[in-house]
Amino acid sequence: MANTPDPQTSIPNTLKAMKDQFGREIDYLRISLTDRCGFRCRYCMPQEGVLKREHAEILSLEEIAEIASAAIECGIRKIRLTGGEPLVRKGIETLCRNLKQQPDLHELTLTTNGALLAEKAAVLKEAGVDRLNISLDTLRQDRFRYITRCGDLSDTLRGIQSAEDAGFCGTKINTVLIGGFNDDEIPDLVNLTREKDISLRFIELMPIGEARIWPKSAFLDAATVLQRVPELEPVGSDGVAELYRLSGTAGTVGLIRPLSHSFCRNCSRIRLTADGMLKPCLHSDMEIPLRGLHGNALTEAVKDGIFRKPSQHHINRDGISGTVNRLMSQIGG
Ligand code: SAM
Ligand code: SF4
Repeated sequence: MANTPDPQTSIPNTLKAMKDQFGREIDYLRISLTDRCGFRCRYCMPQEGVLKREHAEILSLEEIAEIASAAIECGIRKIRLTGGEPLVRKGIETLCRNLKQQPDLHELTLTTNGALLAEKAAVLKEAGVDRLNISLDTLRQDRFRYITRCGDLSDTLRGIQSAEDAGFCGTKINTVLIGGFNDDEIPDLVNLTREKDISLRFIELMPIGEARIWPKSAFLDAATVLQRVPELEPVGSDGVAELYRLSGTAGTVGLIRPLSHSFCRNCSRIRLTADGMLKPCLHSDMEIPLRGLHGNALTEAVKDGIFRKPSQHHINRDGISGTVNRLMSQIGG
């Protein structure tokens, strides 16, 4: 069983994917390139944004590449760039090119709010980014402005179109399901999969960061999607998402259910914060400082973080039983 400690597990020093203390293979690293973002999504960031850090407090692109390289040496095969908003980080395309030169990296992906994507999609494609996830919580301009506090729906829609024009395939649209905010749009959002071969994924709102004190009514079980659109048919799963499809359509609808169906047993991720902390679990305050480490000391610290990954989170709609001090935008969702 994945969550039973395996006394045989040891920290290997080979190139193959490493197992944590519970026997899970860890091959996926999410890197937060910056805490900053042009949006202020109400569930993610306070209105005033995050405390602005000095440039020197944030990992340089060279430091990120060095840590990524050490992680690849420890068996990481997939890297997702995120944030904050990764596209506000200058030089992101240079980092992408650099990461793509690593032969053992199988996939480089990026999560974005799409606001700057229209100007960046082609260069990201050329720099080797394999796939994009674009966040889109509503199809209504007034609601988009409300939830992001300052975003413009048309920018994100243009970004989605630009990704297609630049030749990105398999783009995923991520929608955080929020009771009383966008649950009445479920059928409209699902309808997007009729027109385009997209993968639309409904993600359960998690009670972390700003959403920590939101009312229970905002936290909907993603199964609500199946009640509102009963004609959705199950078509398997894709990593953390349960997949469904409307009959005869190209696109799919995914449900990502960290609260109602914890996927900790199969979790293969670790995270790197913009200030150089390795976070083995999104919902734990365990952090391993990597900044300033090089060579063997760096790979050993990464291995230590992988090995000590906690077995599971303890969150539910009522809140978190641990104490996660960082905002979602600071961890890199
Ligand atoms: N700025 C980029 C974006 O919005 O796609 C990347 C960073 S953002 C933190 C990554 C994802 O985390 C977004 O899809 C966002 O909706 C999601 N997210 C942020 N706070 C969340 C929360 N409390 N519960 C669930 N998802 C959350
Ligand atoms: Fe920015 Fe993404 Fe957080 Fe929204 S969810 S405030 S776009 S980091």
